[in-house]
Formats: sequence, structure tokens, C-alpha cells
Amino acid sequence: MNTTSPSADPAPIRIPARSGVAVRLAKGTTIKVINTHGRQVVDTWAFNQDDIGESMSMEHSRTALLKVIPRVGDTLLTNHRRPILTLVEDTTPGVHDTLIAACDRHRYAQLGVVGHHDNCTDNLAAALATLGLETRETPCPLNLFMNVPVSAGGELKFVPPVSQAGQYVVLRAEMDSIIVMSACPQDVTAVNGMTPTDAH
Ligand SMILES: [Zn+2]
Repeated sequence: MNTTSPSADPAPIRIPARSGVAVRLAKGTTIKVINTHGRQVVDTWAFNQDDIGESMSMEHSRTALLKVIPRVGDTLLTNHRRPILTLVEDTTPGVHDTLIAACDRHRYAQLGVVGHHDNCTDNLAAALATLGLETRETPCPLNLFMNVPVSAGGELKFVPPVSQAGQYVVLRAEMDSIIVMSACPQDVTAVNGMTPTDAH
């Protein structure tokens, strides 16, 4: 998953459906996030390895990029306005989301779910815990493959991803980072095509 050249891909790490994974990514190395089955949103966070309080920020990135969706060559910034990840390759149609908060227990309660529902916020916490880390807040994630079109009138809607099985993005770390990815368990709205699956 971490690689310095496309010809040296190691064995993929599975992001199990409805779960999260955290990995360390050294500055200058890349990570390929694969939409294995094509319609799975992957909530993605990046943190400064030396300061978990510095994290990739969608609002700071949009300010710098003046875009709602980053494109190949664009660099995402932290809440300290420093480069943390660059989108270096994208084999999907380029539809991702930077607007929508990670799902959480409150979101599922609002949607009428009774009892526990897996969620990206808890997945972030669990994945960071595997590295002995915790964050006090859940930054807005880069929602890879998520399809939230913005109408000319400014309205949003949740529709299924347009990516195809096996399509991927490659992100390069611009600082020593911790990357967390959650295969979003949302199965109440259409964002994962109603069926959460694995990613890699
Ligand atoms: Zn989610």
C-alpha cells in the first residue's frame, strides 16, 4: 500500500467493510486507495505524525484550492495551512467529497437507526488506537469516491459513487503522516450504493 514507485506495490492492506485502518506514511511516499468493488466511499484523514492536533483540513484546503473537489496535482492542507497530502493520480472520474462530516452514532440515530450502527467516527478512533493514539475531535474527512453533487442553486444530494471496481487514487505525503481510512458503513442513504464493501 505504501510505495515509492508504481512497479513496487506491496501486497494490498484490506480495509474491511464497515471498518477503519491507520497507517504511517513517511514524507515523500505514496499510498494507493483502491475502490475494490467500485461503489465504496472511503473516509480519509491525515495527521501530522509529530502532532496529532495538526490534521488535514477540508475547509483550509478549499480555501487554498478554491475548489470543492481536489484534482490531480492539488495539495491538501492542514489546519495549520501546511501541505500534508497531494493527489498524484486518480483513475476514477474524479468525483469525491470535501463537504460532508464523517458519519457518527448521532447521524444514524437521526436516520432512525435503533441501537448500535458502525460509523466512521468510531472507526477513526479505533484505527488510531491501534497506533496508541487518540484525537479529541473528528476532522472533516476527505471522502474519497463519495458523490455529493452541488446544484447551481447550492443544494446537495447523496447519490451513489460513479467509480468502477478497481479504480483508485494515489496520495503522496508532504510530511510524516498518519493516514486513516474508513470503509464507510452508511447503508441508510445511497452513498455506498446501499451496500458497504471492503476497500484496499
Ligand atoms: Zn461513514
